[in-house]
Amino acid sequence: MDSVGVAAAAAPDARPGSAWQSKCPWGAPSTTSISCSLADVMSEQLAKELQLEEENAAFPEVVAAAEGPFITGENIDTSSDLMLAQMLQMEFDREYDAQLRREEKKINGDSKVSISFENYRKVHPYDSDSSEDEVDWQDTRHDPYRADKPTTTPRRGFIGKGKDITTKHDEVVCGRKNTARMENFAPEFQVGDGIGMDLKLSNQVFNALKQHAYSEERRSARLHEKKEHSTAEKAVDPKTRLLLYKMVNSGMLETITGCISTGKESVVFHAYGGNATEDKVIPPECAIKVFKTTLNEFKNRDKYIKDDYRFKDRFSKLNPRKIIRMWAEKEMHNLTRMQNAGIPCPQVVILKKHVLVMSFIGQDQVPAPKLKDVTLSSEDMKKAYYQILNMMQQLYRECNLVHADLSEYNMLWHDGKVWLIDVSQSVEPTHPHGLEFLFRDCRNVSQFFQKGGVAEALNERELFNAVSGLNITADNEVDFQAEIEALEKMNEDHVQNHGKKLSTFSSDGDPPIYDE
Ligand code: ADP
Ligand code: MN
Repeated sequence: MDSVGVAAAAAPDARPGSAWQSKCPWGAPSTTSISCSLADVMSEQLAKELQLEEENAAFPEVVAAAEGPFITGENIDTSSDLMLAQMLQMEFDREYDAQLRREEKKINGDSKVSISFENYRKVHPYDSDSSEDEVDWQDTRHDPYRADKPTTTPRRGFIGKGKDITTKHDEVVCGRKNTARMENFAPEFQVGDGIGMDLKLSNQVFNALKQHAYSEERRSARLHEKKEHSTAEKAVDPKTRLLLYKMVNSGMLETITGCISTGKESVVFHAYGGNATEDKVIPPECAIKVFKTTLNEFKNRDKYIKDDYRFKDRFSKLNPRKIIRMWAEKEMHNLTRMQNAGIPCPQVVILKKHVLVMSFIGQDQVPAPKLKDVTLSSEDMKKAYYQILNMMQQLYRECNLVHADLSEYNMLWHDGKVWLIDVSQSVEPTHPHGLEFLFRDCRNVSQFFQKGGVAEALNERELFNAVSGLNITADNEVDFQAEIEALEKMNEDHVQNHGKKLSTFSSDGDPPIYDE
């Protein structure tokens, strides 16, 4: 039984926030100075060596990271009572499962036929809460991310770290080693008086204690630089933090390292991917887009989603919180379409409520620069232009989508090519304002590349025709826009009269093509 999580959560202020850093035996071994007997020094040195060896393998980011990761499953802020209770429950469930696993192992041994306590377990990866308003994203038609049946892969033994070393070592020897190592925790870390007893600390308990020690270190560091950290932490509410915590706790993510971007409508975090499951490979680095649940920011975006027929049935029945989840859901579906068409864009990992996890575009925690921030050679600039022209056509024709917020702010330059991001507001071309959005996209792209010196860049009207295949001949912006609106109106009238939308706009005066 492990009371560590309880201690961490329930008595957050019990630890003195002293200069642990300088005394931390695995963080800064050279400066360690703990007074004790010769025998202790001997065993400590031995323990330290073994420990450093193992920890460098098991906890590389703790040593490497200049400042502690944002969420590792243990250092989460515990200011909310509800979250505290939920975290405790999860901690308890995890221990319960660990016990089940041990029982299972004992019974099965080397036998070819094995029994499983799978169904009795309490923690499941990416488990969802049961409350009514938590299931809305799962009931989407054709949702490829529907929660799966519980899998039979063994659950990980410990938060965020996939290394269950109890199977590798003799338990007794290991237990004694752990006890010795435990005494290496900082002096102010209360480990109890085990000296003189033949204590055999299991790896699980040892790891738990160690994790707790790390988290205390980070917590106390946080307390001292509250100002720097507060932005990232305040950016998400306790419920969201719990969601993120669960993703780490389930092993899907290894660590959430910090915030990449705080926008009006979303906050984006970087994370290292965790363990793959049977049906899901987690990218080594992930971006987590948290759609903000402060509702007023989204009011002006109603027009994108309200008129999107894909969401129409549901829109009227939803409360504002659910509408925000629909943004996340839209981004997921749109990214999936783009991925299927081979357009460079983040790959969806998982969607949980208003939190979308996708692959990270960039490397080693550094996001790829936006097109607006990168200086390209004229050759690359031209290459980027033709790539975007091509992607806009693919998006329109193969994905049946208009980006609707396309500009140098939402295109990243990575691996010598352009990647499209931020597609929560993307709509189908027959959306009542779809062609207007496309025209705006074309204007942004044309202007950016014309200013950027790409002589070949089409003007906005030529680009619009090239992407849509429509043949609008107006030679000035006002007339051009009037024609666009006329086409949109024609589509709306068709919906009124026939109860369904056109599937595409006709390109040359032929009768429009209808859905079946
Ligand atoms: P917003 O609605 O806030 O503009 P974005 O999806 O554009 O949301 O994300 C904001 C910023 O976060 C982007 O400009 C980009 O720098 C970063 N970002 C978002 N997704 C990723 C990703 N998958 N990989 C790397 N960086 C990303
Ligand atoms: Mn953006």
